[in-house]
Amino acid sequence: MVQVNLTTGLHFDCSGGISILESAAKAQIALPYSCKTGRCSSCKCKVLSGQSRPLVDELGLTTEEKEDGWILSCARTAASDLLIEVEDISGFVIPTVKTLPARISSVKKLAPDVLRVTLRVPPNNILNYLPGQYVNVIGAGGVRRSYSIANAPSADGQLELHIRAVAGGVMSDYWFSEAKADDLVRINGPLGSFFLREAAGLDLVFLATGTGIAPIKAMIEAMPQLAASKLPRSVTVVWGGRAQDDIYLDVAAMPRNHVFIPVLSRASASWAGARGYVQQALLEVQPDLSKAAVYACGSDAMIHSARLAMLEAGLPSNRFYSDAFVSSAAS
Ligand SMILES: Cc1cc2nc3c(=O)[nH]c(=O)nc-3n(C[C@H](O)[C@H](O)[C@H](O)COP(=O)(O)OP(=O)(O)OC[C@H]3O[C@@H](n4cnc5c(N)ncnc54)[C@H](O)[C@@H]3O)c2cc1C
Repeated sequence: MVQVNLTTGLHFDCSGGISILESAAKAQIALPYSCKTGRCSSCKCKVLSGQSRPLVDELGLTTEEKEDGWILSCARTAASDLLIEVEDISGFVIPTVKTLPARISSVKKLAPDVLRVTLRVPPNNILNYLPGQYVNVIGAGGVRRSYSIANAPSADGQLELHIRAVAGGVMSDYWFSEAKADDLVRINGPLGSFFLREAAGLDLVFLATGTGIAPIKAMIEAMPQLAASKLPRSVTVVWGGRAQDDIYLDVAAMPRNHVFIPVLSRASASWAGARGYVQQALLEVQPDLSKAAVYACGSDAMIHSARLAMLEAGLPSNRFYSDAFVSSAAS
């Protein structure tokens, strides 16, 4: 049995080819994570001493990061006692993961390739979650795909999902060709660590591409419940898509005290708004990010480019949080 020690002072046993992330969970220690398939890099942490062994490819790390001692806790197990530097999220009460039956309440087209699906769970067994977290939807034949919850927790327990069509995708086929009210699926969650950290006095920045706006919408909806002493100094939301259809929510419905910037990378001539990529659009209005916290959600390409651009603009590296919508099919 080897031991993993965290710089936060916590420690847990890890052996038998079980990942560092799962070993921590067994010891009731929450570490940051998202996809659990070695692709998204939300569980990135730094080995300060000791040896670890890969269980699956760490596709979410660059060669430089690997050479620098970074690992993905979902993709590695300990080969000797380890000392690891990782964000301390032990102060958050993260709801227990459970599997529930859920019926589809409604299916609505928000854009040619985006659906809003609402799910209802048994009234005596609703899903508690932190805004920003996701669920795995388990469909026919046990197919399992991840979707962020797009609404803040509500009294009736309804869950809203924003689902983008992926060409030839197994679950996309179901959602876009078959799904209808009263269909039964199962959900497993809440999952992931993409939720709001300490925001008091900071410039809060949300960057999204496509349906990456879903968890951000949930966080924004929950913000009025923050105590006055926990409020950020400002909130800026930059939402990117290729064409106008990709900005599928009513921008005018956003809270008036937030700055909201839709940005298109392939805008038509008639588009009067921002053009280019989300990170460029943000830096045009907010060039200094030294007092900011950035939450980015969407494609891994955006997240990678945005992180580099944000750090160059003075963002402290421990205040960049992300959730990459990588393929959630098992490889
Ligand atoms: C933590 C997390 C949260 C997510 N939240 C959302 C969400 O809120 N809304 C949403 O629309 N999607 C979300 N996704 C992506 C979603 O889980 C599925 O991967 C996606 O919907 C495709 O599933 P599918 O069964 O239709 O396609 P599959 O049958 O899984 O795949 C078909 C083909 O497309 C490729 N592919 C699959 N997914 C992607 C992708 N995301 N990017 C590029 N290529 C892909 C596959 O490699 C395969 O070649 C999330 C993913 C993760 C990991």
